[in-house]
Amino acid sequence: MGMEITFLGAAGTVTGSRFLVEAEGTRVLVDCGLFQGLKSLRLKNRDPLGVDPASLDAVLLTHAHLDHSGWLPVLVRDGFSGPIYCTPPTAELAEILLADSGRLQEEDARYANKKGYSRHKPAEPLYTEAEAAAVTPRFTLCELDDTFSVGSLRVRYQRAGHILGAASILIESSGRSVFFSGDLGRPHDLLMWPPDPPPAADMIVMESTYGDREHKNTDVLAALADAVGDTVRDGGVAMIPAFAVGRSQLILYVLWRLRQDGRLPSVPTFLNSPMAIEVSEVFRRFDEYHRLTELETNAALSSATFTRKVEESKELNRRRGPMVLVAGAGMLTGGRILHHLKAFGADPMNAVLLVGYQAPGTRGAALIAGDPQLKIHGRYWPMRARVHRLDALSGHADRSELLDWLGAAAVPPEKVMLVHGEPQAADALRRGIADRHGIDAEPAAMGQVVRLD
Ligand code: ZN
Repeated sequence: MGMEITFLGAAGTVTGSRFLVEAEGTRVLVDCGLFQGLKSLRLKNRDPLGVDPASLDAVLLTHAHLDHSGWLPVLVRDGFSGPIYCTPPTAELAEILLADSGRLQEEDARYANKKGYSRHKPAEPLYTEAEAAAVTPRFTLCELDDTFSVGSLRVRYQRAGHILGAASILIESSGRSVFFSGDLGRPHDLLMWPPDPPPAADMIVMESTYGDREHKNTDVLAALADAVGDTVRDGGVAMIPAFAVGRSQLILYVLWRLRQDGRLPSVPTFLNSPMAIEVSEVFRRFDEYHRLTELETNAALSSATFTRKVEESKELNRRRGPMVLVAGAGMLTGGRILHHLKAFGADPMNAVLLVGYQAPGTRGAALIAGDPQLKIHGRYWPMRARVHRLDALSGHADRSELLDWLGAAAVPPEKVMLVHGEPQAADALRRGIADRHGIDAEPAAMGQVVRLD
């Protein structure tokens, strides 16, 4: 008997979270994420899962981000017909994110065909918006801290912080147990509650995104006040690429608080992302899942102008500073922020504020590395705007916070498998876990199988 865990993604890399758990004839997939970033990774999205999707009894989804949910449309198209368990906010957010992802896949394929720069001819979208919509009926809601059965498995979700509805997942079968951290938030996030400590489990599968980094400038308010203040006081444009889920809402909240406290001048602020606008409405509805009061939520969200239409978005590129533009995508992989970079990126008066993780191979990572130009929509654009990296606004725990979280475990696990990190980050965290907690930790390898007997 026993339990078997197979690492089908997010092993040696941050994206593509997919973990197979099998015990006593039950087979579930924990997360079903998209590989993002480098082309070599993105190409993996075209590969089959490694097990027949129709043979899965269920998917257990930790949270809505696409690197955890974005491959679900392919799974369903390829024959998966079981339930996808998730919290109520995750279901709503995933529906929004998947629809957008399908739309983008279709747009990219259309664009590649028009410009003729695709290597596959004709370019085919990974999945369509209609295929993304076919996922929604599979969502089966579960609440944090409830225990339920999936075949022979007992499953419990608990709070992970990170983004609205995010969960860690405990799976037990015949006295053996594995606990998946999912993405872990920060203990003192302004928006999200701290992650719950790990329960007793034989093995913990733990994220390691920032396993080798401490977030600098822990004062989020001061960090944003400095970076945005310097730019807009000179009449510049502060561009903030942000993930539609989580960071966009945090940024609006922090900007609002800074203006309330007189620490930032009142300048026009735009949330230029139809998706982030939709997500903000989900935020209003699920107020027990975040720290803000109704009053704060409403004040913060209404302090920015919501830009929905494409025409309004284009209009912004003809405006002059000072202003603040919050737009997706967070790693500059697409979205309206690219048009803002083309319009404002060449002027050193302006600034780009990177607030989230920038995967290798993305334009965000290129900016951090100091690239003087970025390739956008098939040609190169000069980038002379200042670049600020604001880790303090990250939705992920840093190295010390990850180690503290593990140290708070009810009972130390026998083994920790590290996922969702670049190799150097996972390895640095492995050493930290051994030194500080004396626990055997190992970075997971793609395709690796671990048995709990
Ligand atoms: Zn995430």
